[in-house]
Amino acid sequence: MSALTIAQASCADDYDPNSMPVAKARAFIHQFLEPVRGTLRVPVRSALGRVLAEDVVSPVDVPSHRNSAMDGWAMRGADLKADGEATLAEIGSSFAGRPFAGAVGPGQCVRIMTGGVVPQGADTVVMQERAKANGKSITFAPGQKTAQNVREAGEDLKRGSVALARGKLVRPAELGLIASLGIGEVAVYRPLRVAFFSTGDELKSVGSLLGEGEIYDSNRYTLHGMLTRLGCELLDMGVVRDEPAALEAAFAQAAANADVVITSGGVSVGEADFVKDMLGKLGEVVFWKIAMKPGRPLAYGKIGGAHFFGLPGNPVSVMVTFYQFVRDALLVLSGANPVQALPTFAASCSARLKKAPGRTEFQRGVLTVGADGALSVRPTGEQGSGILKSMSEANCFIVLGDATGNVEPGTLVQVQMLEGLV
Ligand code: AMP
Ligand code: MG
Repeated sequence: MSALTIAQASCADDYDPNSMPVAKARAFIHQFLEPVRGTLRVPVRSALGRVLAEDVVSPVDVPSHRNSAMDGWAMRGADLKADGEATLAEIGSSFAGRPFAGAVGPGQCVRIMTGGVVPQGADTVVMQERAKANGKSITFAPGQKTAQNVREAGEDLKRGSVALARGKLVRPAELGLIASLGIGEVAVYRPLRVAFFSTGDELKSVGSLLGEGEIYDSNRYTLHGMLTRLGCELLDMGVVRDEPAALEAAFAQAAANADVVITSGGVSVGEADFVKDMLGKLGEVVFWKIAMKPGRPLAYGKIGGAHFFGLPGNPVSVMVTFYQFVRDALLVLSGANPVQALPTFAASCSARLKKAPGRTEFQRGVLTVGADGALSVRPTGEQGSGILKSMSEANCFIVLGDATGNVEPGTLVQVQMLEGLV
């Protein structure tokens, strides 16, 4: 835990709690994030989506032997001519997994396939497209260079060197890389335990009937999805009514059982006051009005040892604030290092967008690639912060920075993808 407390940091800082810029809120939160300490050893496949808790050191050279990068013939480079053809005698073959047992002498060559061990004596491979075979007599085109098309042992990775550093998030490529070193088990950080609940007297859980003025709680479902994809261990605490005693009990129980507590609803003006007092008793929490849309109200703090994120109630705001503040924080807490900000890139906006300067907007967009290969984005239509369909139809956010005003068709805007590769 940082020596700085949340109360000290917020006092020391000259921020305006009524209009907190997105980047500043994110930076504030990051001062207090320390990765979990617990680690466990798991079979390689179970490391998918986890973070490496130790460097993976290569026990072998990769590749393990000098081998051919091409299908062709291996020979001594000195036997080839820069300005004319050279004809050599084929004395055997070296296929992947079936090396040539002998050595290649002057005037000789060996048929070789990609991945085949380059035989003793040989130092060069000529690809088959540059050769003519006449029985065992092979003629090579001019212009070859010694050492071409040969992959040296240890060229990709030297034995004893770090193949993957601690903090690396394990994706399919890492699973394959670890397996390629013959390693069967790795150390990973333990999963983050995240407790979450929805607040609101109007909320009913799926499975019960709605009374007058009631709605189904959808935020726990989107949170379930996002947290699961981040590899967290979930503690879903259901719906908690807007009653001080019930809320206090829920906060205390959540903080005692999890690394992170996430709630939705109850942090907007009017609702926040008694929650503010209660959280002031239980821990240290700051309440912001972020200069963003959607997702204006946001609370962050510590309740006991747990980090707390109080997200707004509106379903789209929950997702936007999760992606912009919680995602990065959970990755840092999970031990991931470095944690890269979600990338944005430019696309031409095909519609007019209404936008007020002075805040960052995350409009929901559909990014398409035109016949000319150019990226174009259009908004999904109604952008209300309660309209989850706008998220479902979208494949990206259109990120409009603080300084931006209305956007005219044809203007370049920044977009942020909602999905990556599997
Ligand atoms: P609040 O931030 O609690 O004032 O809520 C803002 C809006 O989001 C209100 O219209 C709530 O009914 C709605 N809302 C709050 N929590 C949820 C939830 N868990 N699922 C769906 N809508 C919600
Ligand atoms: Mg509410």
